[in-house]
Amino acid sequence: MIQTDVIIVGGGPAGSACAALLKKKGMDVKILDKQVFPRKKLCAGWISPGIFTDLGCIPDDYPHALTRIHRIHFHLFKIPLPVKTYQYAVRRIEFDHWMIRRAGVPVLNHRVKTIQKKQHRYVIDDRFECRYLIGAGGTHCPVRRSFVSPLLARPDHARISAVEKEFLGPQPVRECHIWYLENGLPGYAWYLPKKGGWINIGIGGKQLALAAEKTTIMQHWRRFILRLINKGFLDQDPGDPAGHAYYLRHTPLESLPDNVFAIGDAAGLSTLDMGEGIHAAVQSGIDAAKAIIENRPVQLNHIARFSLPGLLAAGIRPPT
Ligand SMILES: Cc1cc2nc3c(=O)[nH]c(=O)nc-3n(C[C@H](O)[C@H](O)[C@H](O)COP(=O)(O)OP(=O)(O)OC[C@H]3O[C@@H](n4cnc5c(N)ncnc54)[C@H](O)[C@@H]3O)c2cc1C
Repeated sequence: MIQTDVIIVGGGPAGSACAALLKKKGMDVKILDKQVFPRKKLCAGWISPGIFTDLGCIPDDYPHALTRIHRIHFHLFKIPLPVKTYQYAVRRIEFDHWMIRRAGVPVLNHRVKTIQKKQHRYVIDDRFECRYLIGAGGTHCPVRRSFVSPLLARPDHARISAVEKEFLGPQPVRECHIWYLENGLPGYAWYLPKKGGWINIGIGGKQLALAAEKTTIMQHWRRFILRLINKGFLDQDPGDPAGHAYYLRHTPLESLPDNVFAIGDAAGLSTLDMGEGIHAAVQSGIDAAKAIIENRPVQLNHIARFSLPGLLAAGIRPPT
């Protein structure tokens, strides 16, 4: 049996941000992840500059390609709305690997299946034992599944279905475009060119509304690709995307059994307007670490519910 103070299930931005702070405070921490890093994560990789501040570093410290976004071309009901801003894009395969290396804690390759409470400790798959247990395993986090009553089920209206593809290709259009509510999509589609010749395109929408319209995210994807080709954004179909479901912000989970925490997507913290979840994952990871260090309940209500205000404000006065 491997014994430790803290086990974090999931080494995404939530888990690694939490691990870094706990390690800094001298705690014995281990991360369990079912994947081996660097691992792929479906995501546009859009991040707001505040992430670097929260991580106690500056953008220049980031060792991989960091794409600076100066302007976003929003399209609302076919009306173009170019907006000045100050945001970044990363490749998640690189960003998450960087964060986990920075945390400096052991990452064990293990898919968590069963969790039992034994007196004041938690036992995972009869192999790991800890005092504090952090659920950072994303939408289907096993910690959440083990401890959250079905009465606290996540609301169906918050469920997002998203598909995405990141590939190398010519970038005839060099700036980021976002199409809201196009062709009846209950969400938005994006085209995000990144440094190094990468292009990230994707589309996300509310699953309940898609079902009510008797349409699917893949039908919207096919229309989106045709449009990108017709408008000169792409020269060919990049092939099928991969898909993932997650939840937009709903009542954050703050009450779990003693010394158990849910953070990031496991807590359902992505912003209501853009579905931005990386920053919330980092903030909740830091907050869970502080809650353990200060022996107090976790507080997730301070985490922003919307991305647009920050994104628009950054166009007026760039964040320092
Ligand atoms: C298509 C798409 C595009 C997106 N675009 C953006 C964007 O541009 N900007 C943004 O801010 N957010 C975006 N998001 C949301 C963002 O990706 C998530 O909110 C963020 O990754 C949450 O981080 P996390 O650490 O909570 O979980 P994750 O990053 O999902 O990490 C969870 C980890 O847990 C591990 N795990 C899961 N189950 C187990 C298990 N049983 N045992 C062990 N390990 C396990 C996984 O392997 C994974 O490494 C997007 C999401 C999607 C689907």
